[in-house]
Amino acid sequence: MSKEFGKGHPYFGQEAVFTTKHEKLPLIAPPFSQLINLKITQCNEDTDQLGTFSGEVERKLPPLETAIKKAKLGMDQLGVSLGLASEGSIGPDAEVGFFNSDVEYLVFVDDSRDLVISEVFRSFDIRAGSLVSEPGDEISIFLEKVDFPNHKLIVTANSGSKISPIKGIGTIDELESAIRLNAKNSNDGKVLIQSDLRAHCSPSRRKNIAHVAQLLATRISKQCTMCMAPGWGRIDYERGLECITCGEYKPLAIKREILGCISCDHREEGELIREFLDPAQCDFCNP
Ligand SMILES: [Zn+2]
Ligand SMILES: [Zn+2]
Repeated sequence: MSKEFGKGHPYFGQEAVFTTKHEKLPLIAPPFSQLINLKITQCNEDTDQLGTFSGEVERKLPPLETAIKKAKLGMDQLGVSLGLASEGSIGPDAEVGFFNSDVEYLVFVDDSRDLVISEVFRSFDIRAGSLVSEPGDEISIFLEKVDFPNHKLIVTANSGSKISPIKGIGTIDELESAIRLNAKNSNDGKVLIQSDLRAHCSPSRRKNIAHVAQLLATRISKQCTMCMAPGWGRIDYERGLECITCGEYKPLAIKREILGCISCDHREEGELIREFLDPAQCDFCNP
């Protein structure tokens, strides 16, 4: 069991700073306010030095570490000991290569307790794509696929240009003139059109960020019953199931959640996910 949130929670009524450039505060603040009454203010620190989506600055660190660095930028700036930052990774999925996935990370840093609490949410519900094109090309199928203009676009010269990309394109007129301009500046006369995946330009990504915020606020709201540290939640799975039909044992099949504390070694059994292996997943019954 974990202690539920409320007035005894260490963050009740406290202030945290969220470091962001792209209007993500309204997506992440509500669950923190509802669950722990944590007040979040935004710090508009330029985080592009840590890497950008459109690739002008390459991200040097893994997403979680990048997010921790971002959070600390804002905390230093405002002199606050609690901070948050988010980081996303969108592209061909690491496991299911062919499909795009959006992996959203959100971290909470507490300098006074020396804690980092994080959540990650992987979603296949993300509109993203790219196309090499020329002025006058018929691109309506592509535009439908990337849900333009609901989702915005970036246009760059396809080859060897010095001018910077045109971002946040949200109308056909803007798109056509960006294609003309960049084609003129491209060695091969072509342009690269890409989804603008910055949060304020991508509604499908925004939904995923709101979801990871809900997950993290829930985790932070729960305290360990042994040491009272916030951040109680799933840390692993218990694995190993027998097939209900033939009894074949599959060691990696997920059986139940293991809940744990991020500060001490306290662990508890979580929800039972499956008691037996479904024969459809059994290598012996369904080879
Ligand atoms: Zn079986
Ligand atoms: Zn603990």
